[in-house]
Amino acid sequence: MLLRHTPKEIKQRKALTINPAKTCQPIGAMYAALGIHSCLPHSHGSQGCCAYHRSTLTRHYKEPVMAATSSFTEGASVFGGQANLVQAIDNIFTIYEPEVIAVHTTCLSETIGDDIPQIARKAEAEGKIPRGKYVIHVNTPSYVGTHVTGFSGMTKAMVDYFSKSNGKKLDQFNIIPGYVEPSDMEEIKRIAEVMGVRTVMFPDTSRVLNRPQTGKYDMFPKGGATVQALMSTGDSLATIALGRMASGAAARALDTKCKVPCEILDLPIGFKATDRFVDTLRKTAGINVPDSLSEERGQLMDIVTDMHQYFYGTKVALAGDPDQLISLTEFLVSIDMWPIHIVTGTVSKDFATRIREITKGVPHQVNVSTPGDMFLLHQWIKNDPVDLLIGNTYMKYIARDEDIPLVRFGFPILDRIGHSYFPTLGYRGGMRLLEKILDATLDRKDRDSPEESFELVM
Ligand code: SF4
Repeated sequence: MLLRHTPKEIKQRKALTINPAKTCQPIGAMYAALGIHSCLPHSHGSQGCCAYHRSTLTRHYKEPVMAATSSFTEGASVFGGQANLVQAIDNIFTIYEPEVIAVHTTCLSETIGDDIPQIARKAEAEGKIPRGKYVIHVNTPSYVGTHVTGFSGMTKAMVDYFSKSNGKKLDQFNIIPGYVEPSDMEEIKRIAEVMGVRTVMFPDTSRVLNRPQTGKYDMFPKGGATVQALMSTGDSLATIALGRMASGAAARALDTKCKVPCEILDLPIGFKATDRFVDTLRKTAGINVPDSLSEERGQLMDIVTDMHQYFYGTKVALAGDPDQLISLTEFLVSIDMWPIHIVTGTVSKDFATRIREITKGVPHQVNVSTPGDMFLLHQWIKNDPVDLLIGNTYMKYIARDEDIPLVRFGFPILDRIGHSYFPTLGYRGGMRLLEKILDATLDRKDRDSPEESFELVM
């Protein structure tokens, strides 16, 4: 088994990551770009990078993820990728006819130092960008940052390239959803709709990466934020950004560029963070919370009340992205679970401080690492075992080696379905999350119960 030789003894490591709790920057940039309607992501680098990024997204969403590449060979590596990108822009607009090409760089093109805006200007000067079509870009060298920063960068690029203000405010609010599933984006829009708030969401991958099977292939599905909607964000009344790491930069850029005030919140996972989101919507839009939403909250509370004995004192190890982990940890602590080992592969300034604050009432030592890797998480678990793991598919190796149940959550999930269709955000999402936690916990209890205490009713 792959991780069988993970030693219990923890030694200080400075320049070595083993089993990272992250993926590379362009994956996040590519994912965000797919949240623009009629957009073809473009990877400025060699074919291998693009193939890896596409396949990771395709495996996670079980949808064909389209992206183009500058297809660097030895020549481009030596002389730069300008000729390749200009040619690619021409080919893409001629053959596939997207409205937007969203270029992200790779380690190789960043090392060469290609200047994407200059190359795009050259393509424009040569008439290779048709009128009314756009080329946007973000720099995503993957020797720094992670998929989270790539997502953040591409989302900010949407503001930099598209947002504008004509000075006349529109009756709408921007929502930047963070690096979440298409199902979560749908759920956030539903909550806003139930509250009667008109929103523009960007990026918006719902109905792009969770589209229905129609028997017909659409290269550009009907979902995604349109260019027109993106342009209008500069005239919105306010921006609500969910997830500080993934959405904060775009919200602040929009404030600076178009004077759209912003509230940057945690991802609405669990009671408290969803309450804060709903309350911010209520206050910002000057409306009341409808009964139907309060009822959903009450249903979530009912599950916690009914099943609290199975949550109480359950020790959990978590790996994932900072935005998700902060809200998830808060949720788990609020139902008396004990998240005690927490790692993220993304460097986040205030992550450890936030986690320490959230877990200060947990009656057990809590380990936090940013950036940390799954090797370290495994070592912590060996020294201080847990009852449950929550994290992406790569956690299954630890789950198998240590015989601990795993709830799949986060990115990437390569071996299960459901995440793109069923949200974990909002009160309803909270119900699903609890269902998954209870299923994993009680299945294990059933498996391990001696015959005399094997219960029919839990
Ligand atoms: S880490 Fe760099 S070289 Fe590797 S796939 Fe990502 S962008 Fe390409």
